[in-house]
Parts: sequence; C-alpha cells; structure tokens
Amino acid sequence: MCGMTCCTKNTLQQLSWKLSSQILCQDVVLHTKIRVPRKRSSSLEVAAIDAAQSFDYESLRMEELQSGNKLKIGIVGFGNFGQFLAQRMISQGHKVLAYSRTDYKDVAHTMGVPFFSDADDFCEEHPEVVLLCTSILSTEDVLKLLPVQRLKRNTLFVDVLSVKEFPKKLFLQVLPQEFDVLCTHPMFGPESGKSSWVGLPFVYDKVRIGGGSRLERCDKFLNIFGSEGCRMVEMSCAEHDRYAAGSQFITHTVGRVLGKLALESTPINTKGYETLLGLVENTKGDSFELYYGLFMYNQRATEELERLELAFDSIKKQLFGRLHDVLRQQLFEGVGMKDGKSLPNIVEDAAHKSTDFAKAASNVVAHSKATTNRSSKRSGDDNGSS
Ligand code: NAP
Repeated sequence: MCGMTCCTKNTLQQLSWKLSSQILCQDVVLHTKIRVPRKRSSSLEVAAIDAAQSFDYESLRMEELQSGNKLKIGIVGFGNFGQFLAQRMISQGHKVLAYSRTDYKDVAHTMGVPFFSDADDFCEEHPEVVLLCTSILSTEDVLKLLPVQRLKRNTLFVDVLSVKEFPKKLFLQVLPQEFDVLCTHPMFGPESGKSSWVGLPFVYDKVRIGGGSRLERCDKFLNIFGSEGCRMVEMSCAEHDRYAAGSQFITHTVGRVLGKLALESTPINTKGYETLLGLVENTKGDSFELYYGLFMYNQRATEELERLELAFDSIKKQLFGRLHDVLRQQLFEGVGMKDGKSLPNIVEDAAHKSTDFAKAASNVVAHSKATTNRSSKRSGDDNGSS
C-alpha cells in the first residue's frame, strides 16, 4: 500500500518536473513570470484541469489586475457613451472588453478593446464588472438575452442609465442573487466631459454589494470616477429620479426646443445667449432615443413637461396682458404712436404673420375692437369708464 503511494507520488513528482521544465523551455511569454508552451507536447496528456494551474492564464491575469487595483470591465452597449467611458478606463490601465449589437470591431481595435458580437463569447471572458451602457429603452431586452449563467457568480453589475429606479428594479428582478448590483449615473456626457471630469457629479447607489473583496471591487470601480475628480454623490435611485426630472429632463427639453430654432452665433452675443448656444451644443449630440427614455422611464417627466408648458403660457399671458392694457389706454385716452402708426395698426400688421404670437396678438386686437365698439355705443351715456 505504502509502496504504491510512494510510487504514485514519485510518478507525480516526475510529471510535475517534466511539465515545469517544458514550460520553462518555451519562448512564449504571456505574463511577466509565466512561460507557456506554444504547442502542446505530444508526450504529455493532461486529462482534466479543474483547479487553477500554474499556466492558467486567465486566473493569473485576474490576480494581477486585482492586485494592481485594475479591473476587467465588460461593456455591454458600445455606442456613444460606452466608448466615451471605455477611453477613460483604458487610460487608467483597466482592461476593457466590449459587446454590442452593432459591429464596432474597427473602432474597438483602434482603442485596443477586444470586441465581441456574440454574447456567449463575451460572458465567457469572465469580466469582473459588467457595465451596461445600453439605451434606456433597450436595456430590459438586452439584459434578459445576456447569458448571465456563463459569468462568474460574483460578478458586479453596473449601469449608467440616465434614469435610476427602472434599472434598479430590473437588476433585482432579473439577475441571480449572487451578483452584486451598483446603479450609477455619470451626470455628464461625451460633450460636457470631453476634457476634464473635475467637479462633474457622479451619482451612485450601492443597491446590493457583498462585504470584503466585493466591497473593495465596488470601491475600485467608483474610484475610476473619483480619481478623475468627479463629485461623488451617493443617493437612492428614487431620490435621483426626483431631482433629475426637474433638472436633467428640463435641460434636455429646453435644449431641444432651442435646437429647433436653429440659433446662430452673432457678432454681439451676450453671455446669456452664449449659454443658450452652449446648451444646444450639449444636447444636440444625444440621441432622441436617450431623450425619449428620460421621458418614458421617469414617472415625473410628464409632470415636468406640463409645468414647463404652463410656465410658457403664463409668460405669454403676462406679455399680452400688458399689451392689452396699453391698447386700452390708447383706445380710451387717445395716446398716439410713433411714425403715425397706432398700436392697433402695428399689432394688426404683425397678426398677418403666421406665428402663434401674432395670432394671439390678432385675438387681442379683435377683442379690443369689440370692446371699442361696445364702448363707443355706450360712450354717449357713461363716458366709457368700463
Ligand atoms: P443611447 O441611444 O441612449 O444608447 C445607445 C446604445 O444602446 C448603443 O450601445 C446601442 O447599441 C444600444 N442599443 C440601442 N437599441 C438597442 C437594441 N434594440 N438592442 C441592443 N442594443 C441597443 O445613447 P448613449 O448616449 O450611448 O447612451 C447610453 C446609455 O448611457 C443610456 O442609458 C444613457 O441614458 C446613458 N448616459 C448617457 C449619457 C450621455 O451624455 N450620452 C450620460 C449619462 C448616461 P449599438 O450601438 O450596438 O446599436
């Protein structure tokens, strides 16, 4: 029995020595310390490798990344925003890989990012962090089609959607319990964050993060933004959506409305006007899909749109109310206008133009005329003091 054990031990030692010497004799270096054979030796057959071996490149690479504070991040949705984030992550030394519906092989290649058109292949790369950069509208479908069973069970899932309650609920509903969940929103985009991220807000909610190394990994991910100088704001997804409807959705809406006016720079731009031009510039690069997502997936957006409409109407009323007062004054006190034109004439001229304002002005004129007729009928009796 003992002899048998010793014999087996010796054979194993010999095999192990043979293996190491073969490994060390080869010239392919994949890692700073490990040499891996270019071809499998025909004399050596390893039937099964369940435990991590000395030439298990993936485990070693992962160890190296972890020990060096670097992460292996798999981006799902390599569009405008996905590429923008990838660039900064790569510059910090993280390993980034990407998967997207559209073929981004060429652009990924120039960035040094391995690109996968196949979700299975992507997941089998075992990224430690899966970062969802898909459009708000497509996220549910994309997530449900992702073969998450091919990922490691302790994978950290992160999203960057511009709405937060929706992905939080989706992640908790769809992802296995073992996965960590971090919901984030970088409150800037490729335009506003093209040079520096210093002072730009980054909102996050650690929805479900385990302890120990899992927490460390989450903090490492957050540090990608913290180390760039972002203003890190921890808040609940619900709180984010409440603030964002009143700020971000309004900003995008006003930017899009102004964009429709095709504003042009003039030689006499005021600072205020420059700000408006800047707003148009900032929002015009964002897809309508993104804007629609902000509207559809934030319950407060409709309310904000209505408030904006009411505010606009109230300003118009204020303007035309004042105009009405002036008209009345002119009609009843006979105040003349410059260039021989009376105020009703001017407004009537404008009314021929087909803008809403002119139409409203036309209504004011019609209303004034009706008032005048009634007044002149009565003026013989009561001096028109209506
Ligand atoms: P987007 O239009 O919101 O999203 C584009 C991405 O969604 C692309 O990667 C696209 O994949 C993917 N996609 C769209 N429809 C799809 C579908 N049916 N199936 C699979 N994938 C689909 O534009 P974005 O600016 O890149 O934004 C991405 C995410 O980042 C959004 O959730 C947005 O809210 C968030 N975000 C954006 C900004 C910003 O300033 N842009 C800032 C903060 C957060 P393909 O390209 O492969 O087609």
